[in-house]
Amino acid sequence: MAESTDARTAACGLTLSGWEGWLEAHGEPRFRAKQITDWVFKKRVDDFDAMTNLPPELRENLASEFSLVPLEIIRVNGSADTTRKFLFRLEPDGRLIETVLIPASQALYGEKSDRLTLCVSSQVGCAFDCKFCASGLAGFTRNLSAGEIVAQVLLAEMEAGERINNLVFMGMGEPLANLKNLTAAIRILNADWGVTLGARHMTVSTSGLAPQIEKLADEPLQIRLAISLHGATDEVRQRIMPVNERYDLERLFSALRVWREKKKQKITFEYILIEGVNDGLDQAKILARRANQLRAKVNLIPYNIVEGLEWKRPTEEVCESFLEVLKRAGVQATLRRERGHDIDAACGQLRLQEETAAGVIAVK
Ligand code: SAH
Repeated sequence: MAESTDARTAACGLTLSGWEGWLEAHGEPRFRAKQITDWVFKKRVDDFDAMTNLPPELRENLASEFSLVPLEIIRVNGSADTTRKFLFRLEPDGRLIETVLIPASQALYGEKSDRLTLCVSSQVGCAFDCKFCASGLAGFTRNLSAGEIVAQVLLAEMEAGERINNLVFMGMGEPLANLKNLTAAIRILNADWGVTLGARHMTVSTSGLAPQIEKLADEPLQIRLAISLHGATDEVRQRIMPVNERYDLERLFSALRVWREKKKQKITFEYILIEGVNDGLDQAKILARRANQLRAKVNLIPYNIVEGLEWKRPTEEVCESFLEVLKRAGVQATLRRERGHDIDAACGQLRLQEETAAGVIAVK
């Protein structure tokens, strides 16, 4: 898979020990690492020249090798429900990604105390080709670097004028297909010298890459895991998620048991309800059994219409009776209330875009 093509490394993509290594290699004392991370993550200066406790030659060196924040906001769309969608241009190659800022809501991700949630992207495009999702329509372009992931948070906080207290890796891309950069970004976001976001307030969502789930389970941080399940049997899941051919439900669930064993925490199943595809009560019953096996929570999401795709959202009654089956079986389940639908910022509506002389266009 293509690596990021950073021309200059992003300063916000380096860990404290990464800085120590760089400084050592450049004949500088290691204690400067903490000074640099303070400028980058605490004071958030926009110019290396503002790093006044560093010697001028070092500042110059840094400026020639690093960019501070490798993204630029080119558009902000506000939504009636106050969800905001940012369109960012990536510095090295001008590609575009989207990040969605979602203010407090009771039941969005099942956590009552959320105040400000950011939905971040992990790749440009997506290679997994889920049949219902806009993000994969134009295929995969590249991984985001750790700095590009962290910078989405820094810039969104600047725009919002307040701290983000909940992060979901549910934007464009498959985070677990970019595991190395994802884990570096999570460490930076979590660290005391970094963005200081609690690991329990970060949720990684995956289409089900079983081996990578097992690898991520070895990370010491207590980040949360959400699985895009969308089908309770292989037959139904396969129809809409080609990844199921590579890792079927049995393989996926064995990885989830590893996760539970190591993390001792609840997993969330995301389940989009698509009319006539996976919304039957037979699926609900099997889903309930599977959720109970793992003591997982279920987050039901009525399908968000994607232009160019045929899938439809079931009626409210169908969604409610699906939910009822889960609840009656003792599963902790919620039906998600809509956010950002009117600005195409809802789940699955983030699509690959390109900038042209005429403006920004959707690629497909
Ligand atoms: N690739 C990861 C991260 C993307 S998360 C994953 O699959 O989990 C985006 C979430 O939105 C996933 O649960 C995805 O299945 C869901 N989604 C995609 N298209 C959607 C749509 N049209 N309506 C509602 N949810 C959708």
